[in-house]
Amino acid sequence: SKVPSITLNNGVEMPQLGYGVWQVPDDEAAQAVTTAIETGYRSIDTAAIYENEVGTGKAITASGVAREELFVTTKLWNNASETWTRDGVLREFDASLAKLGLDYVDLYLIHWPRAMRDDYVAIWKAFGELAQSGRAKAIGVSNFKEPQLRRIIDESGVVPAVNQVELHPQLAQPELRAFHAEHGIATEAWSPLGQGKGLLEVPTIVAIAQKYGKTAAQVVLRWHVQLGTIAIPKSVTPSRIAENFDVFGFELDAEDIAAIAALDEAKRLGPDPEDFDF
Ligand code: NAD
Repeated sequence: SKVPSITLNNGVEMPQLGYGVWQVPDDEAAQAVTTAIETGYRSIDTAAIYENEVGTGKAITASGVAREELFVTTKLWNNASETWTRDGVLREFDASLAKLGLDYVDLYLIHWPRAMRDDYVAIWKAFGELAQSGRAKAIGVSNFKEPQLRRIIDESGVVPAVNQVELHPQLAQPELRAFHAEHGIATEAWSPLGQGKGLLEVPTIVAIAQKYGKTAAQVVLRWHVQLGTIAIPKSVTPSRIAENFDVFGFELDAEDIAAIAALDEAKRLGPDPEDFDF
């Protein structure tokens, strides 16, 4: 495949560009994921809370692509105190596998740390059991900041393979990326296109796109590739699904990279993980 892969800290290979399905209704997910797989995507990012694991799994099973060539991520959501426990994690994981119709996932993530509750270490230890069982080929977290990362590493000895966080040119997360690099954690970018809102109209991005005869979305995704982040753009439009995958035939130069670096405003589109509970 022309998509480079990132070697995770346990040796598992993860495609650097994948397809995200947040906000895709379950009855549209099978079609969308089928289009993505036909386009060439091999990594799919879903979550229990997206309520589209059934449709996503149908497309995976029907694709005819060998399971070992696909990389499937899902995430733990737990909104009841009796399931935000070790046993609850194991049950929620089984429920996700059943909905997906799979006997393993490639990556299982804690969706949010709920840091204010101070109980994510026990959840992370249960993830360690899932990794041991082989039914999650890799385990990681999402929306963790440095203090929570330090704590799970210190208290479990298990370093997450991935931290999936909001990351795009207007929220480039340099300090967190440096911490990840120091600890062997791969950085995965959610909302890599800034949710397709203002970012794709920023004059700097538009000018670089014109320079290469590419679209703004392609420039932003190319920036992720060169930064070394794993990006999982979402679209349900076949032409955009294809456009977002076609980012390996050009290269941003040092001047472009510097111009994009100047766009970082540390501006979040989503919630600050510090305050987010559910
Ligand atoms: P994104 O940055 O991928 O933007 C998607 C939106 O951008 C689309 O809905 C569309 O409106 C627009 N778009 C897509 N391709 C385009 C193109 N080529 N040209 C113009 N506009 C285009 O945002 P996202 O969906 O928030 O994030 C991607 C994925 O990240 C999600 O689907 C999900 O899998 C994951 N995610 C995870 C978390 C988390 O908490 N872990 C949170 C949000 C998203």
